[in-house]
Amino acid sequence: VGAGWIGAEVAGVAAGAGAHVTVVEAADAPLEAALGEVGALTTAWYAAAGVRLLLGTRVDEVRADAVVLEDGRTVPADVVLVAVGARPRTGWLGDALPVAPDGALVVDERYRVVRADGPLHHVVAVGDVARRRSPRHGWVSGGHWDGALRGPAAAVRTLLGVPAGPVDDPAPYVFSTQLGHELALYGHPLPTDDVVLRRGDDGFTALWFRPGSSELGAVLAVDRPRDVATARRLFTGPALPRLDRDAAADDARPLKAAALA
Ligand SMILES: Cc1cc2nc3c(=O)[nH]c(=O)nc-3n(C[C@H](O)[C@H](O)[C@H](O)COP(=O)(O)OP(=O)(O)OC[C@H]3O[C@@H](n4cnc5c(N)ncnc54)[C@H](O)[C@@H]3O)c2cc1C
Repeated sequence: VGAGWIGAEVAGVAAGAGAHVTVVEAADAPLEAALGEVGALTTAWYAAAGVRLLLGTRVDEVRADAVVLEDGRTVPADVVLVAVGARPRTGWLGDALPVAPDGALVVDERYRVVRADGPLHHVVAVGDVARRRSPRHGWVSGGHWDGALRGPAAAVRTLLGVPAGPVDDPAPYVFSTQLGHELALYGHPLPTDDVVLRRGDDGFTALWFRPGSSELGAVLAVDRPRDVATARRLFTGPALPRLDRDAAADDARPLKAAALA
């Protein structure tokens, strides 16, 4: 249940091991919550991997031997994996710290937990529980391994009182192997962004530009190691990189050639 990052990964591995797999997804495309319209570009991968994909379909009930869909249909199942997202469970904090409605702790760019009257200087949060203010990308939620790996060093510097110097602002990064494809997402796509595609024989790269601007907010490279290396370098400056949209869409030219000074 769920064609997000985890549902897609498990479906591909299970089908590859010989299982009959059906993926039931409420949205109209896989990965829609994370990638918006770009998620639809992964739809064909399911049939190619021998996985049945039911889109725009909600689950009503899980029984011992089947999944019952909202439209009354039944999908027989020996094993049901529910992969519909995760939320921090922070109710136990009570009133000790301010908790956002989704359970996250809101932190500033130095991982300090933020209260209405400003950041606390002695409490940091990092990893899945934290939603961080990135100077480059805006609000970035947890949920991925890279943030849990790279955040702690900066958070500890804050606790030790050595926050001087530039803010360590790692770009959000997600990797995933899905149904035989390698995905790497750098940055933070917004639903309001304009999407530009680079397509070649070997895969595709999607670029999310801020509306009407040359400011690049995120890059998804699918089966394109060259573009992965460029994307990693693009999101290392203090601000979002600027790219020429037409040059970025031209797959005959390297992506880095589209960068504007
Ligand atoms: C099935 C699965 C697959 C994933 N695959 C990927 C992937 O391919 N790539 C990727 O980037 N990310 C992936 N992730 C996400 C990644 O695992 C997390 O982002 C990362 O583990 C977050 O680290 P963390 O330390 O913040 O939280 P966690 O690793 O969840 O650690 C939190 C720990 O705190 C404990 N805990 C919670 N509440 C309390 C409490 N009240 N008292 C005491 N202990 C408590 C928990 O038991 C847990 O041990 C995946 C996650 C899942 C579930």
